[in-house]
Amino acid sequence: MAINLLARPPSESQILIAEKIKKKLPNGCRKILLVMPPNVPEEDWDPEVAGNNRYPVYDPYGLGVLAACADLRSYETNIIDLNFMLQDNFKSGRGNFQYEYWKKWLKQKMEEFKPDMVGITCMFTIYHRSMVRVAEFVKEYNSNIVVIAGGVHTTMASTDVISAPGQLVLEDCKAIDFVGLYECENSFPDFLDIANGKLNPESMTQIATLINDQYTGILKRAEPKQEILNIAPNYHNLPIERYSSIGRIGTFYWLFKPATRAGTIRFNYGCRAHCRFCSVEKITGKGIVLKRDVDVVLDQLERLKDMYGISHVMFLDDDIFNGEERTVALFEGWAKRKLNITWDASNGVIASALTPEIAHAASESGCIALSFGIESGNPEVLRNIPKPSGVKHYLRAGEIMKKHPEIFTKGLLMVGFPPEPERNFPGESIGMIWDTINLAKQMDLDWYTISPLNLIPGVEITNHAIVRGEITKQGLIDGSERPIVNSTGQQALRARREKESALPFVDHLAGDPNGIPAREDLIDIWFVMDYKVNYEKMWHLENPLKIEMLHKLFVNMCDKTHKENALGNLYFALLEHERNDRTQASYRLNLAEEFARDNDYWRVRFPKMGFDKLAADLRQMINGA
Ligand code: SF4
Repeated sequence: MAINLLARPPSESQILIAEKIKKKLPNGCRKILLVMPPNVPEEDWDPEVAGNNRYPVYDPYGLGVLAACADLRSYETNIIDLNFMLQDNFKSGRGNFQYEYWKKWLKQKMEEFKPDMVGITCMFTIYHRSMVRVAEFVKEYNSNIVVIAGGVHTTMASTDVISAPGQLVLEDCKAIDFVGLYECENSFPDFLDIANGKLNPESMTQIATLINDQYTGILKRAEPKQEILNIAPNYHNLPIERYSSIGRIGTFYWLFKPATRAGTIRFNYGCRAHCRFCSVEKITGKGIVLKRDVDVVLDQLERLKDMYGISHVMFLDDDIFNGEERTVALFEGWAKRKLNITWDASNGVIASALTPEIAHAASESGCIALSFGIESGNPEVLRNIPKPSGVKHYLRAGEIMKKHPEIFTKGLLMVGFPPEPERNFPGESIGMIWDTINLAKQMDLDWYTISPLNLIPGVEITNHAIVRGEITKQGLIDGSERPIVNSTGQQALRARREKESALPFVDHLAGDPNGIPAREDLIDIWFVMDYKVNYEKMWHLENPLKIEMLHKLFVNMCDKTHKENALGNLYFALLEHERNDRTQASYRLNLAEEFARDNDYWRVRFPKMGFDKLAADLRQMINGA
């Protein structure tokens, strides 16, 4: 499909889009229903994962803010969170759960509310298919309802996000009339005003559509306004207090005290950095960080507590520590107001922005966990990304955090950076991967997650991969470009699949340091990296605080999320031994040996990685020999 954006001056595009709006909404638009689609499409949905509360069930912060912004201009809004409703229905066991129920709920809502427009959000590629199904269902119900889609994925779904953001969504789903681009807090209410004749087409920003099958977009961004940035979400009557009881919010939910009610908060929008695999700068603007007022954020936290009893929040930010003085002021205000709300930064913080003052204030305010976006320990890889922190910053952050053992620290690592000859980058070699392992060990954070470079739509690294033929356009929107490994969860899946007969296991990290591993080798590389950075150090744990934190992590991992994990139970036994619980240590070691005996995936790995010898040594230690 040709993109005629360049052939047409912006004013012409604005006029064309305004004409389409008029045609679609001849009587204007008063009522807007905002929809959160199911975050896991039906074909991927797994009752075991849902039963363990492992699916994300976040309060729909972005939709709430859009609703609040539209309310300010006197439009009538409502929100339906199909993701929450599905999970809630499944967990409550009411009325023979069926995934398809979302259609019934949405239809009922549309019958009651009678929207002129339905807005659907899609943050992640994984639920692009859900968004499409919701849009098609709305049009089947009433083809006169205008459908507008927004969210990070929706903007990023393009083979050229600079000149045609949202293009793949419009091409893939004809039920979507318009795509709202980037952050829409300012542009969406303007769009509504244009539809109602209150603003002229020249005010139109951040919108794309197909006109005569041709992509037509207004990419100009609305001017951010501080009063809009400061707006808190209007959640309407959503039961925000119940969200974290049926799903997960953030990645540190296993650290929460019992009966914690978790929610989300935002301090800054955007990020100062320019990592080429990341979508943030495409959404907020290059290097732009929009900052909310400290007191406004603190007031919002108080309201979350008063209205919903929220006692923990996850920051949605990508660059929380932007400006030391302001960041410290937030955390000091938090402590001073005695909010009694703990918090975590599941999204990675920037290591080079961490100072001893920020770490101290964070701890005093109730921070329980921080993730650090590290990606690599190799300077060449870091430069090629390019990361805003270098090896020395990571080591310094590790040192600072040693003074705050009460905060659980996690490092986010990546593996599998492909060759980019056009940038003189040879690809991540085995030696470079070893640099990452060694840095992680030196930083000595409490835990690391390792992800293969995930090719999300619209970012520069992905565009290179499309040119090289490593990924197709369709793969970018239908979710088939998914990480081949990225977590203990994927490992559990493999262990299940390979229970009877395991695929060969090769320790590629023992090979030529200059060798560039193939993408399919990353599965085994991930396994060895995970072992080296997370497990090996556990023989030398001393701090009881850290032992207790890891104990919570292992309870969650071995008993809830990834059962039949032989390696997990082996090290769970070690933790129990360190806690002087001989009975539990023996129990866990027995489980580890049982899984290693009965499951071929583990049977292959135990002797090869020397785990059977470790198990024998641990048995002797537990027995006091
Ligand atoms: S530091 Fe994090 S949020 Fe910022 S651009 Fe890099 S990956 Fe994205």
